[in-house]
Amino acid sequence: MDTRLCTRFAPSPTGLLHLGHVASASYGWRRARDAGGRFLLRLEDIDPSRCRPGFADAILRDLAWLGLAWDGPVRVQSAHLADYRAVLGTLAARDLLYPCFCTRADIAASVSAPHSAPDGTALYPGTCRSLDPGRRADLLAGGVPHALRLDMARACRIAGRLDRLEEGQGRLACDPASFGDVVLARKEVAASYHLCVTHDDALQQVTLVTRGEDLAASADLHRLLQTLLGWPEPAYAHHRLLRDAHGVRLAKRDRALTVQALREQGVGPDAVRAMAERA
Ligand code: GLU
Repeated sequence: MDTRLCTRFAPSPTGLLHLGHVASASYGWRRARDAGGRFLLRLEDIDPSRCRPGFADAILRDLAWLGLAWDGPVRVQSAHLADYRAVLGTLAARDLLYPCFCTRADIAASVSAPHSAPDGTALYPGTCRSLDPGRRADLLAGGVPHALRLDMARACRIAGRLDRLEEGQGRLACDPASFGDVVLARKEVAASYHLCVTHDDALQQVTLVTRGEDLAASADLHRLLQTLLGWPEPAYAHHRLLRDAHGVRLAKRDRALTVQALREQGVGPDAVRAMAERA
C-alpha cells in the first residue's frame, strides 16, 4: 500500500474551468508535490443531464496548460457504474436502503415548511420508509422509477458517534443525521455524488481530501459511509471559496474568469495560477 500523502481534484464537467477551480486544483496539487506525494484527477460525470464530454476534454487541456500535472490515469466515474452498484448491493443486504418513489412535487407537498439538508437538497420526510410492503412490492414489480435512500436512523445506530479530522481544527463531531434519508442512487442514474465520492476516495487511497468549504458539511455524511463500509478515513482540508471584490462567490457563469477566456486574452499559465492563489 502506498502510504504517501495523496490528494485529488474532482471536478464535474458541467462547464469550463474557472479561477475557483484553479484555486482548488492548485491547492491540492501543491500539497501533494510539497510532500512528495500523489495528486489524482477524477471526473465526476455521473449526471448525463449536466455533464458534457466537451467540458471534460477542456478540463484536461486547461489543467495540462496550467502545469497542474496529475499522477496515474484519470478516473472517469461514468465508466465505473458497476462499482457503485456493488456498494449499493452491500448496503441493501444490510437493510440500510429503501426505494423511494416520490417526485420532488410529492416531497414539497408532504411537508408544510420544507427544510434543506446541508447539501441543498430537500430534507426528506421519510414517506417511502414506512410504505406498506405490499404496495412497495407492487410499485417495484410495475417498474415505477425509484431512488434508493439511506435509512439514516438505522445507519447512525450502527455507526455510533462519529468524528472526522479537519486540518487546522482537529477532530470535529459529525452530524450526518442533518442530511435525513439521503439519496444514494438517483432515479435516472444508479449512483449519487455522496456515494461515488466516498467510494472513489477510498478506492484511490486519497489521504487528504482538499476541496471548497461548501462541501465541508458533506464530509460528515462521507464519514458515516466510510464507517458503514469499513473504508479508510482520510483527513479533510476544506479551503475558502474564491469570491469577487463584492464577496460574491465566483460562479460558472463568470465567463471572463474561465481559464480558456484568460488564455485567449494572452494571460500565461503562471499568471492564471497566481491570480487564483492570490484571490
Ligand atoms: N465534483 C464536485 C464538484 O465539482 C467536487 C467533489 C469533491 O471535491 O468532493 O463540485
